[in-house]
Amino acid sequence: MENCIFCKIAAGEIPSATLFEDDRVRVILDLGPAARGHALVLPKEHHADATEMPEDLLGHAMAVGARVGAAQMKALGYDGFNLIQNNGLSAGQTVFHFHLHVIPRRADDGVLGLWKPGTTTPEEMAETAALIKPLLEA
Ligand code: AMP
Ligand code: ZN
Repeated sequence: MENCIFCKIAAGEIPSATLFEDDRVRVILDLGPAARGHALVLPKEHHADATEMPEDLLGHAMAVGARVGAAQMKALGYDGFNLIQNNGLSAGQTVFHFHLHVIPRRADDGVLGLWKPGTTTPEEMAETAALIKPLLEA
């Protein structure tokens, strides 16, 4: 897609610190890393977000992300990693070409504030499930 920076990076038209590449994805270091080694898995095809990704490509990106996380731990002495993928402005997406973040972690590093657990009721859970479930049936 024209004027998509991640299309250009994935295609090698803009230089990047590439960690891995195959025919479907390129893995680069993030320019604004949450931690040293923070990487992005970019598909070479343009898809705006996860809802537009073919399932096999989504699976491949996740599998590559897991390999990258394992390598970050070994190479840089981390003991965990988050695979994070933002969809939509409200979810923090700023670049509208699918990308999977691989963020390496150490205990108590304060790198990410994940969610605070809330509360619900069995009735609300049943109502919520009834709204979502029909949309997932093939
Ligand atoms: P998101 O908020 O999930 O859309 O994440 C976009 C990510 O892309 C951020 O972590 C940015 O630091 C990163 N980013 C933006 N432009 C570049 C670039 N040219 N090269 C590497 N990382 C980038
Ligand atoms: Zn793109």
